Amino acid sequence: MHKTFGTTEVLRGIDLTAAAGTVTVVLGPSGSGKSTLLRCINHLEKVDSGLVRVDGELIGYRQSGTRLHELSERQILKQRAGIGFVFQNFNLFPHLTALENITEAPISAQGKPKRLVYDRAHELLTRVGLGDRAHAYPRQLSGGQQQRVAIARALALDPKLILFDEPTSALDPELVGEVLDVLRDLAATGVTMIVVTHEIGFAREAADTVVFMDSGRIVEQGTPAEVLDNPQHERTRAFLSAVL
Ligand code: ADP
Ligand code: MG
Repeated sequence: MHKTFGTTEVLRGIDLTAAAGTVTVVLGPSGSGKSTLLRCINHLEKVDSGLVRVDGELIGYRQSGTRLHELSERQILKQRAGIGFVFQNFNLFPHLTALENITEAPISAQGKPKRLVYDRAHELLTRVGLGDRAHAYPRQLSGGQQQRVAIARALALDPKLILFDEPTSALDPELVGEVLDVLRDLAATGVTMIVVTHEIGFAREAADTVVFMDSGRIVEQGTPAEVLDNPQHERTRAFLSAVL
């Protein structure tokens, strides 16, 4: 996958496979292209060339500017609905309650029956420890609670894949743990996840694969033990010693 903004090549040939049911943690310095990678996977940005497949389904395919495969807006929306995205800043709808934030897309974008969607939303709120806050508005919730609602919202789409972009970076330190607990729980239940985070402890415990990115490239990838305990590249070592 290649992606250029203006004259800057931000993704310089990314080749990554995240196996179903596994957790991939993406590490890397600020500006290395981690968010852009997630945004390309989810069609929030268009790749310049390369292809993305989710569960075998083609998401985008171009070669050096020639548009070999262009998806319609409708196909894009459909595919995006199959991929959850959890943002650093939660991005909840401020005028909707926790429950409504979760039910909105399954009802209006996916057209699922309301009754089922509401039952499932209550179930998901309970799963993230917020069964009693269904009718609270985002402003009435802590950052950690808002992020847990955002995770429940992503799960409500029954996604094939959930992308997390620094899900705990905007949280006060004492709230990080409650969100990581939810992520660990998801990981243990076999949700396919790609998680950009600087939480090395989480990577060590929960990741199947750790990927280290720098300057738009994957510098190395492997198991947590390989990448975190025995990094092969100087840039990985320098990054790890700075964040640990
Ligand atoms: P990371 O998430 O690893 O910090 P990003 O993917 O956000 O990195 O950004 C990688 C590079 O791409 C940065 O230099 C950033 O300034 C640039 N960039 C990201 N988004 C845009 C955009 N929409 N327009 C122009 N440049 C962008
Ligand atoms: Mg980023």
